[in-house]
Amino acid sequence: MTKDDIVFVPEPNLRRRSVKVGVITDEIKKLIDDMIKATIDWENSRDHEAAVGLAAVQVNKLFRIFIIRNDYDDISNQQFTVFINPEIVKKLGPIEEEYEGCLSVPEIYGKVGRHQSVKIKAINENGEPFRVTAHGFIARILQHETDHTHGVLFIDHIKDDPKAFYKMNSEGAIEPLDYEKHIKDNSILWGSDTHE
Ligand SMILES: [Zn+2]
Repeated sequence: MTKDDIVFVPEPNLRRRSVKVGVITDEIKKLIDDMIKATIDWENSRDHEAAVGLAAVQVNKLFRIFIIRNDYDDISNQQFTVFINPEIVKKLGPIEEEYEGCLSVPEIYGKVGRHQSVKIKAINENGEPFRVTAHGFIARILQHETDHTHGVLFIDHIKDDPKAFYKMNSEGAIEPLDYEKHIKDNSILWGSDTHE
């Protein structure tokens, strides 16, 4: 896969729930490999952005799988951790607001409230269960990616908040977006009402 396999709003599947993975078949392993390739390819096409995670639904495969980068401060490290059938078992700490973007929501950023810490369980690509407790930025990514497996995008959390939408300018700085003009009735962002 390449970045061209990544789907964008208003693709209806982005608002659908993914299905649980049963057996980790060769097809699933190939999908995970393809997701990593698509993520790296997308990143190579961008000037100012790193790709920190991708869910299977973003390459239009409705499986409960996502990958997150092992070291998002060093993008020469192209290792990812695979979460299959992820489940957030606990959300802890206060809600913190921070900028968030998504490969499936091009050119738009949002200030999204997320829990400061989460405990998550999943299985890895070898079928072994594991648990992670994460804080701050990684906790935010885990909440964002788990949302994808439920058919929820970051923009859905801030839908009615005119001050929460931003874009990145050509220098890579984030600046506010005009909610009435670009967001409120934007059918590209909201699509038809397929949310489950
Ligand atoms: Zn995303």
